[in-house]
Amino acid sequence: MSKNIAIVGAGFLGLTIALRCAQRGDAVTIFESASEIGGLASAWKIGDVVWDKHYHVTLLSDTFTRGVVKEIGLEDDFRWVETKTGFYTDGSLYSMSNTLEFLRFPPLGLISKLRLGATIFYASRLKDWKQLEKITVEEWLTKLSGKRTFEKMWRPLLKAKLGDAYKETSAAFIWATIQRMYAARNSGLKKEMFGYVRGGYARVLEHFAKNLEELGVSIKLYSRIERIESTTDGQVNIINGDTASTFDAVVLTCPSSVAADLVPELTPSERESLTNVKYQGIVCASVLTKTPISEYYVTNITDETPFTGIIEMSALVDKKEFGGNHLIYLPKYVEPDDPMFELSDDEIEQRFLSGLEKMYPSFDRSSVVDFKVSKVRQVFPLPVLNYSGSVPSIKTSVPNVFVVNSAHILNGTLNVNETAQLAENFYGAELI
Ligand SMILES: Cc1cc2nc3c(=O)[nH]c(=O)nc-3n(C[C@H](O)[C@H](O)[C@H](O)COP(=O)(O)OP(=O)(O)OC[C@H]3O[C@@H](n4cnc5c(N)ncnc54)[C@H](O)[C@@H]3O)c2cc1C
Repeated sequence: MSKNIAIVGAGFLGLTIALRCAQRGDAVTIFESASEIGGLASAWKIGDVVWDKHYHVTLLSDTFTRGVVKEIGLEDDFRWVETKTGFYTDGSLYSMSNTLEFLRFPPLGLISKLRLGATIFYASRLKDWKQLEKITVEEWLTKLSGKRTFEKMWRPLLKAKLGDAYKETSAAFIWATIQRMYAARNSGLKKEMFGYVRGGYARVLEHFAKNLEELGVSIKLYSRIERIESTTDGQVNIINGDTASTFDAVVLTCPSSVAADLVPELTPSERESLTNVKYQGIVCASVLTKTPISEYYVTNITDETPFTGIIEMSALVDKKEFGGNHLIYLPKYVEPDDPMFELSDDEIEQRFLSGLEKMYPSFDRSSVVDFKVSKVRQVFPLPVLNYSGSVPSIKTSVPNVFVVNSAHILNGTLNVNETAQLAENFYGAELI
């Protein structure tokens, strides 16, 4: 029998669950607080260019992302490109795009390099990730790579993504990261191939929305859900301002702490399990420039800089997409209460551009066409020790209320492929 289902959140997770339910014949309504769909994968305008608010690539091995993109009719619009990786350390920029360059990499001695290479190879072959949840990433990497390599390479890289929270993060985090990077090289070709869809996620989302519309899905934008309550006959009321609507089931895809606030009937232990999920946030700048800064898609940084990495999207994406300009992302991963969230966009722009000037003497800020800042306090859950044992249950004690989000990605990093897989698994479990 077809159901009347509400989904809170029009990110890739909510959209994919909506697609599956609508294909089964359910009546689906998606409530999204923002002015557009897509959540972390949404797009915005920078200069005259419409592109992703946060940098996104697809790997050849991203079968779930590619499956959805195919279903919405854009498979032929994927572009696959071999990219280069840079490494900025001790004030110098090095290419680290192949084994030879890695072996030449001057900042590490030969023994350290061999141990580092062996660590990455070992992690790529290891299957039992659950064992790694019991040991901190610092202990594990120090044991495998040695103290010096940990201090010189691993600690700055971990701090770049996790801040001081790297100290409580389990080794499963680095295992999942290495597995994903290895998958990029192991999909038939031994080269690292990164992909994007022509037009970026703006186009993917436009097609996604069209497909959902054709299946009768209603997407309600500017609709921040404030409360969710059960009715006496087992249905669920969704409250948005003065409006209440009744559904057979509701799926919340928002961050765990938001979900805890929305459902007052959750038990204290359910609430605790949701609010215990610790998130990492991001301040991510998009810079549109007239000139490139490097040939690298990703530049990893181990020195102290105002941002924690550089992603030069125009080293991957055809510059025609950017009107002949270059698009560079400067992410800074921070804890949700970091003082950076209080800085104005102008202050962030000054800091970040000064950082670029220091790193690249040829960089000239007069080449900046536009600069925009995205701030998100809850981006991905930190995989702390024994994380999988404390993950909140997807099925709550409130009848027909489900909470599913990135906290339920257990042995992966946050990416659209994991998100789409989570949606397929949730739907496949036949909970709704
Ligand atoms: C900087 C960055 C780089 C990334 N790079 C890549 C990459 O290279 N490749 C890749 O595959 N993936 C990448 N990702 C990850 C990818 O963006 C995510 O996996 C995916 O977008 C998560 O989707 P989601 O639906 O789970 O969550 P979200 O996108 O966060 O969606 C949740 C939605 O819920 C809405 N919401 C919250 N509260 C309410 C409420 N009360 N009422 C109504 N709506 C509400 C939010 O507005 C949001 O739209 C990146 C992410 C970031 C931030």
